[in-house]
Order: sequence, then C-alpha cells, then structure tokens
Amino acid sequence: MGGVHDAETTPPDARRPSDEDDRRWMARACDLARRCPPSDTAFSVGAVIVAGGEVVGEGWSRAEDSHDHAEEVALRQAGPAARGAVAYSSMEPCARRASRPRPCARLLAEAGVARVAYALPEPANFVDAPGGDAYLRENGVLVTEMPEFAAAAEAPNAHLL
Ligand SMILES: [Zn+2]
Repeated sequence: MGGVHDAETTPPDARRPSDEDDRRWMARACDLARRCPPSDTAFSVGAVIVAGGEVVGEGWSRAEDSHDHAEEVALRQAGPAARGAVAYSSMEPCARRASRPRPCARLLAEAGVARVAYALPEPANFVDAPGGDAYLRENGVLVTEMPEFAAAAEAPNAHLL
C-alpha cells in the first residue's frame, strides 16, 4: 500500500492536541457560530469541548435560550466530561456579563477544563474590560489564542464590529 507514514493513527493527547487538531476544532467552533440566531445586542459565538479526541459538547450563542452563551451550552452538554478537556471558542470567554450571574470563564474553570483555545479577543462592546483570558490563566486554565481564525470569528459579528 502507498502510505509513507501513519500519523493519523497516532492517538491525540487529550490535554494537548496537536496544532492540526487545534485548527480542526477551532474551524468547527467558527462554523457553529454561524448558527446563532441574529442579535444586535450580543455576540455570535461557537464553542466545542473535546476530550480524548472526541466532541463531548458543542454550542452556540442563544442555542436553547435567548441568554445562552456558546460555552455554557457546550458545558451543559459535556457535563462531567468537561474535566480535563479542551474547550474551543470562536471568541474569548466572557469574564463579565449582564445576562446571567456566572460568566463563561468562571464556568469553564469550575468545570475543570484544562485548556481553552479562542480565536478573537472579546471586543469591548458590552463590557469595558472583558478579561476572560486573564481570569482563566489566574485560575489555572491553559490558554491558547488562535488569531489565524479571528476573521472567521468576526464574520457573524460584522454588524457589531
Ligand atoms: Zn459568555
């Protein structure tokens, strides 16, 4: 047979997926962001939670309720499987929000997510100093910023930016 290497059969490390895995799951998060019901007062975001190379939760803004944020929908789906998992969000998880008492950065840290990757820093449209990245790092969560996906993350929010 023609295969020269079998990198695809190498099991991914759940805590630290390869850059290729990161790009694949972030692309998925950005795709999910396009499913958000339109809003002029909130961002459209997609999120995927991956454990052991498998999706254990995914969500998008306003998926089940008009106040839903993508990350909390994905965390609800993942339940205990979020512990030690990697969360991919098209936008930096919020550290302050008006709609519900617990922001996504806190929900992710409390769920035991090991690492959060995001594409676009939260713009200061709705809160003065978003701060989700710093909150996560201060609470022991690894953070990866993926600016190569910023344009894809901005697209469903073009009317707000
Ligand atoms: Zn949020």
